[in-house]
Amino acid sequence: MAKHDVIVIGAGPGGYVAAIRAAQLGLKTACVEKEYVGGVCLNVGCIPTKALLHVAEDLREAKHAKEYGIDFGEPKVNPKAVNKWKEGVVKKMTGGVKMLFKGNKIDLIEGEATFTDKNTIKVSDKSYSAEKFIVATGSEPIPIPGFEVDNETVVDSTGALVVTEIPKRFLAIGGSAIGLEFCDIYNALGSETTVVELMDQIVPASDPDAAKELHKSFEKRGITIKTGTKAVSQKKTKKGIEVVLEDKEGKQETVTVDKLLVAVGRRPNGKNLGLEAIGVNVNERGFVPPANNHMQTDVSNIYVIGDVAGHPMLAHKAMKEGLVAAEHAAGKPSAYDTIVPSVIYTSPELASVGMTEAEAKEAGYKIRVGKFPMSASGRATTLGTNEGIVKVIGDEETDILLGFHMVGPSAGDMVSEAALAIEMGATLEDISLTQHAHPTIAETFMEAAEHAHGMAIHIANRKR
Ligand code: FAD
Repeated sequence: MAKHDVIVIGAGPGGYVAAIRAAQLGLKTACVEKEYVGGVCLNVGCIPTKALLHVAEDLREAKHAKEYGIDFGEPKVNPKAVNKWKEGVVKKMTGGVKMLFKGNKIDLIEGEATFTDKNTIKVSDKSYSAEKFIVATGSEPIPIPGFEVDNETVVDSTGALVVTEIPKRFLAIGGSAIGLEFCDIYNALGSETTVVELMDQIVPASDPDAAKELHKSFEKRGITIKTGTKAVSQKKTKKGIEVVLEDKEGKQETVTVDKLLVAVGRRPNGKNLGLEAIGVNVNERGFVPPANNHMQTDVSNIYVIGDVAGHPMLAHKAMKEGLVAAEHAAGKPSAYDTIVPSVIYTSPELASVGMTEAEAKEAGYKIRVGKFPMSASGRATTLGTNEGIVKVIGDEETDILLGFHMVGPSAGDMVSEAALAIEMGATLEDISLTQHAHPTIAETFMEAAEHAHGMAIHIANRKR
């Protein structure tokens, strides 16, 4: 029986990063993968969606260019070529992970792993033993009864990535990151696009001011948004898929579409691994909650990371947890204790880190808020946009930055400056005093911090 120091189960962003770090630290490492190296993120998640969002952005830019005096003519989309390009991007990325495995002498075991005891797993009738294991089995889409995915007209996120033709009418059930990114893509490709969200705002977990900005921008682009609305049933007819929607008052309407995306969240892959039988706590939803911030489970030689370990289900959180687990397994005192930025890569992007206004108040802070609109940014104007806002939330007593929420160009990159500021305990004054190059989108963060003190230069301030 092959014996390793550590075996990682799942080669997604959590698992492959953990395996590489374990190998870097001198552990004899293997990684088991049942479907695709790179996991959801590289194969059917982060990477292919961003490739399609790039196509969407170029399409929009080509149309907008007329406003700047360049006429490319009406762009023509070849869906098959778009699909091929996206697949090429995925292949490059997943091939890169396989090369990294080889370079770090990580054994890749193909197949589905189940535990037989706390030091042994079975993969296709072969047993493998290790001192330590890192469970990184990820998550899968949550189905809705009555909206069974056929991966042709009724699709989940994986099906929606296959752009073989452009549907005339596209509807997404779920107004969070995945639903909105696909609305952005299909709207740019030319579909009449609608998104239905059960809660009262899109991106329900985000700051309401940021959600409002994105809402406005989507509507301006012709995307129909129905919040406080539930999709109750669907029926395939000659006219298309008839979807019955119901608002909070119980009023129903039928919308007919050609492609229906079900994107109401993801559920963890914690069951069917044999973990319960060896004493690892798997909760009723299938999460395997870590017992401490070293990412160990109740059975201390078994670690858990990524989507299966809990929310937020994001690739960078999985990667960070993977580093912590691998380092701790190698005897280092690593612990997971960082804030998690989040980005929705629509146009404009929405990015947040730290607390929302409501969360800060609930935590007992007296807060100071600063806001700066993109319409007052020189750089945004040169980019031909005035959509978006930066909002900062600080502690009135200490001036420490508690939260950052942004809608606008490069928000996905900007959020890392805010994350660093929060990690370093920066104050709003620190951000105001930092020279930001001009003209950049980053200046909007500085001006929002100045606005919180009633001292923004390029907008009116409230009385100090
Ligand atoms: P996964 O990536 O799910 O990988 C788990 C792996 O384990 C899979 O390859 C699976 O085959 C394997 N596996 C499962 N069970 C077994 C077993 N028993 N034996 C062997 N192998 C097994 N996150 C972001 O941060 N940014 C984004 O832009 C973003 N965009 C997304 C877009 C979409 C459409 C989707 C669906 C998700 C997106 N996410 C994004 C979320 C992100 O993909 C996940 O948070 C991330 O992939 C989680 O990583 P993971 O390593 O925990 O699991």
